[in-house]
Parts: sequence; C-alpha cells; structure tokens
Amino acid sequence: QVRTRFAPSPTGFIHLGNIRSALYPWAWARSQQGTLVLRIEDTDVERSSQEAVDVIIESMKWLGLDHDEGPFYQMQRMDRYKAVLAQLVEQGWVYPCYMSTTELDALRERQMANKEKPRYDGTWRPEEGKVLPPVPEGVQPVLRFRTPQGGSVVWEDKVKGRIEISNDELDDLVIARPDGTPTYNFCVVVDDIDMAITHVIRGDDHVNNTPRQIHVFRALGHEPPVYAHLPTVLNEQGEKMSKRRGAKPVTQYRDEGYLAEAVVNYLARLGWSHGDDEIFSRAQLVEWFNLDHLGRSASQFDETKMRWVNAQHMKLCDNAVLAGLVAEQLGRRGITAVADERLAAMCALFKDRCSTTVELAEWLSIYFADVQPAEADLAQHLNEVSRPALVQLRERLAALETWDAASISAAIKAVIGELKIKMPQLAIPLRVLVCGRAQTPSVDAVLALFEKNIVLKRLQSL
Ligand code: GLU
Repeated sequence: QVRTRFAPSPTGFIHLGNIRSALYPWAWARSQQGTLVLRIEDTDVERSSQEAVDVIIESMKWLGLDHDEGPFYQMQRMDRYKAVLAQLVEQGWVYPCYMSTTELDALRERQMANKEKPRYDGTWRPEEGKVLPPVPEGVQPVLRFRTPQGGSVVWEDKVKGRIEISNDELDDLVIARPDGTPTYNFCVVVDDIDMAITHVIRGDDHVNNTPRQIHVFRALGHEPPVYAHLPTVLNEQGEKMSKRRGAKPVTQYRDEGYLAEAVVNYLARLGWSHGDDEIFSRAQLVEWFNLDHLGRSASQFDETKMRWVNAQHMKLCDNAVLAGLVAEQLGRRGITAVADERLAAMCALFKDRCSTTVELAEWLSIYFADVQPAEADLAQHLNEVSRPALVQLRERLAALETWDAASISAAIKAVIGELKIKMPQLAIPLRVLVCGRAQTPSVDAVLALFEKNIVLKRLQSL
C-alpha cells in the first residue's frame, strides 16, 4: 500500500515550483491506488498562518490534487512528539547539551579558521570513561541526538541514485530546544512513522536532512521510507523560483485564464517525462506516472511554453466546461453571461485562436458588449464598393426567416453575386462593423450566434 504525503510549510505563498511537490506525490498515490496525506508543517509559528493554509488548499483544489487524509497540523501534534522524545531520552539516544550560543559561535570560528567544516564537537556527549564538564547553573540545555560514529548512511534515491554520507560528517543533531519543543527534523520523522509513509517525494533542498532523519527512524525502530528528491524549478532567468524573484502564486494562473488540466500537464513535464508525450490529460498522467522517469537536472519554467500547452488543452476542452470558465472571465469584465449552449457554441467557434480563457472572453465580449471599430479599419474597409453592398446585405438579413449560418451565408452570396464583388470586399467590412475586428472565424457562423437585431443595429451605423 503506497502512502505518500505533501508537507508544505504555510508561510504565505505557494508558487508553481512548490505545488509541483504536491503534484508528484499525488500522481504517485493515484497511480498506485495509494493514499495522499496532507501535512501542514507549521512549527515556524511566527511565519505560519491559517490564511496560508487556505491558499495551499485552494491551489490544490483548483488543480484537482485531492488528498485522502489530513490536513494534519504539526502544532497540534506537539504532545505526541514530546512523548516520543521522552522515549528516546529513556533509551539513551539523546543527551543534554549545555553549550551556549557564544561558545558554539567561538567553536565555529575556530573550525573555520582551521579550514574545517563547522560542526558540534561532542563536548557534552557522554562516553564511557569520559568526564563531562560541570553543568552550568541556570542554563536550560538543548537535547542532542547521539549520531552513530563511524560507518555511513546510505539510501537509493529515486531521483539521485545511491547516496552515501559518512556519519563523521554529521554532527549530533539538536532535536529539542531549551524550552523542550522538538525541532523540525525530529517532528518530520515522527510524522512519517505515525502516518505510515512509504514514499517521501520532496524538494532536494531537503537532501541534507535525509541522513539525519534516517538515523532518527532507526533509533525509533523503523526503516526509512523510499526517498525521491526533486531537483529545483528555476525561473525564466535561471534562478531558483521564489516569491522574491517574481514568481506568481498558483491561483493567479487561474485568474489569467489557464486551465487546471493544462497547468497539471505542464508541471508534470517539468521534471518528469513519458517518452515524447507533451500533451496529456490528468487521467493519462495517473496511468503513466512512475518514479523511474523523474528527471535528474533542474528544470526551467517557461511561461510561453505553458501558454502553448494551455492552448492545446483549450482545443481539447469540452465546450460546456469552457463556457463555464469563460462566463467567469466575462464576469470579471463586468459582463453577465450564462454558460448555456449558445456560449458553448461561441467557445467552439473561437477557442482555436486563443491561448487562455481570458483571451477567449475578450473575443466573446463582442457578443455581449458594444464594439468600437478602429478608425483605421473603418477608413480602410468602408468605401464606395462596400457601403452599398452592406446596405443591401442588411436588407436581405432583415428579411431572413431563419437566423442561422446557412441562411446568412446565402444572403452574403446573393449580394456578392448581384454586385459582382469578391467575398472579402463584403466580409471584411461586415466583420469590422459587427465584430469591431477585421479578422474572425467564418463570418456566417460568427453572425449566426448574434441576436439578429444586434447585427442589424450594428449595420445601421453606415
Ligand atoms: N515542509 C517542508 C517544505 O515546505 C517539506 C518537508 C518534507 O517534505 O519533508 O519544504
């Protein structure tokens, strides 16, 4: 039974790079009929907030990354961590360390001066036959974990391959602060054990924590889970993606007219592949996803590429679904439109030329709000040939009994036949007046979706 988790720290902002760390565990859980746990790592009380949790949940919901268990909050599990800590103390895995910050800083400086890697030197680590310094008065100690000496810790990372870290490189980790609160690396392990996590899929900024966490797992009598450490997502400038460097919050892409399915597709490809497949659905992703095809190198975000992926998904998207999304976008422009069959037909007609639902709403606003043809278009396309043709067409359209593309097309053809002009000589000025643009999809189909009286009114202004 695969059990995996997404464990965000709710510090106020979630960008595409962050949510990719939810997408992969989600896809892995779904592909294996497993379980996805949502765990909120809120121990940094100062920087964490419920609003940030809400944004994370909203972003996941938008993208359809549903979780099966949680959200669990680490702050609500403090008693549990303390109980496990007491167990480690009892078993002698943990010892108090009274070294002050000043002493630690001095130690670090000495080590740096000797070109050594700064690390805690084990002053307070009890050993057989060793005499510990006298316990200073009135100092609350931190608790340190007794890292095994000699040997190494090894794991087969699903992304990075075999990793081996010598235990001598790891100093004795602080697992409880002077006030008794457990530290991050300890809480994560207790959670991963209690939640029976089989696969940890997370950013490779945590790769240095892993050997320490593995030791804590073993001290607690458990084998560690499988690890997959995902390479960073870089922004378009090639730096690590971050809010400070201009990354947008995930939900902004919804507002900018991206389809959830397209963002999922794009993010999935940003660090994972299924042969040369570029465009795929959520269902295909779930069917194909595995941990063996995760990429080893950092991937660079490319908004132009994501727009292209979105355009492909717009074409594939069911028109009724699209209509719902476009109705929302029209609403943002102050236009009330119902997501009915007519709006769906408009989507079908115009979606091929749009990359986002915002662009589509911009097009479809010609049906719901007045249009303002550009002076230059009027000057170029309204002339002694087109004016009489438009007048005649208006009369023929007014007389139509059925208002559909075939009848409109017949009326247009009748006019160009009678006046012996070419199609564009009538169709272009017709588009300019009715749609405010010189280019549209097939003009008869475009006109058929208007109410007849609006077309007649827009042709009145001649
Ligand atoms: N809370 C960590 C983060 O937001 C994730 C830790 C983990 O997945 O183990 O980066």
